[in-house]
Amino acid sequence: MKALLTGGAGYIGSHTAVAMLEAGHEVAVIDNYYNSSAEAIRRVEKITGKNINMYEADVADKDKLRDILKTEMPDCIIHFAGLKAVGESVEKPVEYYRNNIDTTLALLEVMKELGLTNIVFSSSATVYGEDNVPPFTEDMPKGRCTNPYGWTKWMQEQILTDAQLASASAAAASGTDGDGAAELSVVLLRYFNPVGAHESGMIGEDPKGIPNNLMPYISQLAVGRRDHLTVFGDDYDTPDGTCRRDYIHVMDLAEGHVKAAEYCAAHKGTEVINLGTGEPYSVLDMVKAFGEACGSPVRYEIGPRRAGDVQDSWADADKAKRLLGWEASRGIREICRDAWKWQSGNPEGYGE
Ligand code: NAD
Ligand code: UDP
Repeated sequence: MKALLTGGAGYIGSHTAVAMLEAGHEVAVIDNYYNSSAEAIRRVEKITGKNINMYEADVADKDKLRDILKTEMPDCIIHFAGLKAVGESVEKPVEYYRNNIDTTLALLEVMKELGLTNIVFSSSATVYGEDNVPPFTEDMPKGRCTNPYGWTKWMQEQILTDAQLASASAAAASGTDGDGAAELSVVLLRYFNPVGAHESGMIGEDPKGIPNNLMPYISQLAVGRRDHLTVFGDDYDTPDGTCRRDYIHVMDLAEGHVKAAEYCAAHKGTEVINLGTGEPYSVLDMVKAFGEACGSPVRYEIGPRRAGDVQDSWADADKAKRLLGWEASRGIREICRDAWKWQSGNPEGYGE
């Protein structure tokens, strides 16, 4: 199949590009490099020995988007493009709503014009909110989000679900999906905590500024770019007092996208699917595992809780296994090994 990855130069998109190319699919990418670099795409091409059609453009620019989609006419769109920093979304909510919602609306409008029907969307476990108790299953009601970023994911899920429903009604009314009323296929992927890097160490996570997330922070600490880690709270009701998360290797996540895109292109309707491992690990578990991978203990101190953190978040990963035949195969040892390989080989990231 031919897949078009919006935001494909970013962290998860670039790893998914590798997995798609290695599975024998063609890949085109649209990215405005707001939070990424062209070097990531060059490295994906080097890893795979295959070519990517790269378009530098804002997905919300409908005229450019139309031209690109007309040229590519992809079998499936995987929509990664978006702003994703939780803290920044609290300071700049309007920018977050504008970018994340607009990109999704522009895609849906242009897809309809061109008769394109298949879209996989990057959602997040954050939509489960604070009141559901893990393991989270896809049929749980979505909860209240704690920040504007989370709400953009919540809303984009709703927009895609509503657009799919309308497309199904229109297709049923026209009696065929061949005369302009084509039913959409929507796959909403709820990621848990994507971490790690490609096994080659050639691509990985390269956040701008001081990382907010645990694993890139620890990785930068290990190469001397940070002084010490602050563990946000050790008074939670968990075995070691620190929060628990479902850390998923980014290449497992990427391979999940290959299965999801193949599923999306072969079905109609909306499916919500968790991409997680189903295994929770605490902050201190990750600190210890990373110390073992890089050969020296991670310096940390215990600080206060971080506002907005939930104590526990992990997936029920059964649906992905049942529907897609996919499950994560890498554990926290591989996650830390590969994150370290990337960061130690590229201490300043892509350096652009
Ligand atoms: P990332 O920032 O590395 O990648 C996003 C890419 O989208 C970047 O390359 C950026 O330049 C591009 N982009 C943003 N707005 C754009 C626009 N208007 N037009 C074109 N390109 C645009 O982030 P990531 O970690 O790879 O995340 C990918 C997707 O997965 C995002 O939608 C994110 O919200 C979602 N997600 C990420 C995580 C995570 O922990 N990384 C968890 C859950 C969901
Ligand atoms: N965390 C921490 N120190 C940091 C960054 C994160 O203790 O500098 C903790 C955070 O409180 C959470 C876990 O690590 O319990 C994962 O946080 P991250 O921001 O990576 O992911 P998310 O909060 O989105 O699950």
